[in-house]
Amino acid sequence: MSEITHRSKTRPVKVGPYTIGGTDQVIVQSMTTTKTHDVEATVAEIKRLEEAGCQIVRVACPDMRAAEAIADIKARINIPLVVDIHFDYKLALKAIEGGADKIRINPGNIGRREKVEAVVKAAKAKGIPIRIGVNAGSLEKKYLEKYGYPTAEGMVESALDHIRILEELDFHDIIVSMKASDVNLAIEAYEKASKAFNYPLHLGITESGTLFAGTVKSAAGLGVILHKGIGNTLRISLSADPVEEVKVARELLKSFGLLSDAATLISCPTCGRIEIDLITIANEVEEYISKIRAPIKVAVLGCAVNGPGEAREADIGIAGARGEGLLFRHGEIVRKIPEDQLLDELKKEVDILAKAHEEK
Ligand code: SF4
Repeated sequence: MSEITHRSKTRPVKVGPYTIGGTDQVIVQSMTTTKTHDVEATVAEIKRLEEAGCQIVRVACPDMRAAEAIADIKARINIPLVVDIHFDYKLALKAIEGGADKIRINPGNIGRREKVEAVVKAAKAKGIPIRIGVNAGSLEKKYLEKYGYPTAEGMVESALDHIRILEELDFHDIIVSMKASDVNLAIEAYEKASKAFNYPLHLGITESGTLFAGTVKSAAGLGVILHKGIGNTLRISLSADPVEEVKVARELLKSFGLLSDAATLISCPTCGRIEIDLITIANEVEEYISKIRAPIKVAVLGCAVNGPGEAREADIGIAGARGEGLLFRHGEIVRKIPEDQLLDELKKEVDILAKAHEEK
């Protein structure tokens, strides 16, 4: 196999206003948990996801009621809508007609050639892409028989089968996911996929678990993959409120410098020198800056002994002192603030910086 195709060298594929692939940008996705035919509930959840920083949202489309709801949902949301379909080409056609910005369907599972052609023709007419979703847990029998169990090789061969069907119909707006719940398998599968074809990759560790365990597992697996330069869009899969998936995804991308519109919190690990209720303050600041869409670094430190110096890279920060706090910028102390006003003063300073960034 050849070298890894870096994310910026992948084929650019348009999804609504976004381009997935062809750049270093990694787009954040999530999936609704509501019944898709319940338009009110689905739209409300999508709005919460959008506010949290979700850039593209996916809905399940298990039946015609769901497919028929796509047009109504689409009319009421601001971010691109991906419709997830298994097998039934009529659902795909209905979703495309309803304005889906992308569909997730495996062409090899649709059935007769004319059904595949109908879906591809409709997608082409609307200029929307198709995501092929390879999943270790539902790998085709022939690859399970060939390898004895789900392997990265089998997953890549499965992806190539689906890709070939679309390419034969001259369809190239393809995005591929290679999900597995086993972290090592997922890493290997994505690595092999990035060498086997240059279509953009949608990352995910599937069935990763609850908020805590799933976050660790996803960060471990996707962290390795992102670090290799692989992945153009991602969804963190958690057994939790999907807003948490978006928060984790953004934090993960931030860790790799792959998110340009987010504020970062630097908080000290605390030790016996601590002079303020740092844990409460740090959590409140984290919540506050999650809504800030500017690359500001905010520090919250327990004491002034090592504090400001430890966080020189921070644009703004506070450090505890006895009964008060110190406000500092880039390691330099600006002024003293009584402890009960620390948080409010810091928030004001963050707002000023965010505004200045907006005006740039
Ligand atoms: Fe300890 Fe102060 Fe460093 Fe926090 S900033 S870890 S309280 S020395």
